[in-house]
Amino acid sequence: MSIPAFSLCVYCGSRPGDDLRFADAARAVGSWIGRHGGQLVYGGGHNGLMGVVADATQAAGGRVIGVIPQALVDKEAANRRCDELHIVQNMHERKAMMAERADAFLALPGGIGTFEELFEVWTWRQLGYHAKPLGLLNVAGYYDAMLSFLQNSVGHGFMGEWQMDFLQVGTEVDTLLPGLLCHPGTGDVAPLRDVI
Ligand code: AMP
Repeated sequence: MSIPAFSLCVYCGSRPGDDLRFADAARAVGSWIGRHGGQLVYGGGHNGLMGVVADATQAAGGRVIGVIPQALVDKEAANRRCDELHIVQNMHERKAMMAERADAFLALPGGIGTFEELFEVWTWRQLGYHAKPLGLLNVAGYYDAMLSFLQNSVGHGFMGEWQMDFLQVGTEVDTLLPGLLCHPGTGDVAPLRDVI
């Protein structure tokens, strides 16, 4: 078995959403990972966009690592076709393992689970707990309102542009993913003086 070129952690909806472009984007991400010899790290379920990205990764020859809490094995239809399926005790263990196994993080459209996961690794990045790149694939304008709200927060002085700069936002898989993965794990860490 060859060593994967990179590990990309993808956060996305456990539902498909109301627009076929969401699933198309999830498929494109999985396919990109597989074609570039990479590995997907994700929540291990087979529902919604999560199943789409996992299947597309394997269909294109990539590896898939799923991490799912015991309590969600049935609810989220644990994906037994994962190359590695880790059944863990709770959400904290899930998120920690996903973060550990990843070189970079990417959020696709999703619901509050997706938001929570993205915001957690983003806050960890601003605090200097890791230096891994973070990306947001803004499919069909799904995240426009959230990005505008975040700019509102910058405008009100609760965030700095330097925090926004940690999040690479794109609309195209072929341009966003190379930007995230060209130097996996070597992104700049926020200087602590900016945090305190
Ligand atoms: P959603 O975007 O709400 O469809 O959820 C996407 C994934 O995030 C699912 O696998 C959920 O189990 C997961 N999720 C939901 N809440 C949390 C949480 N607090 N921490 C980590 N993952 C979560």
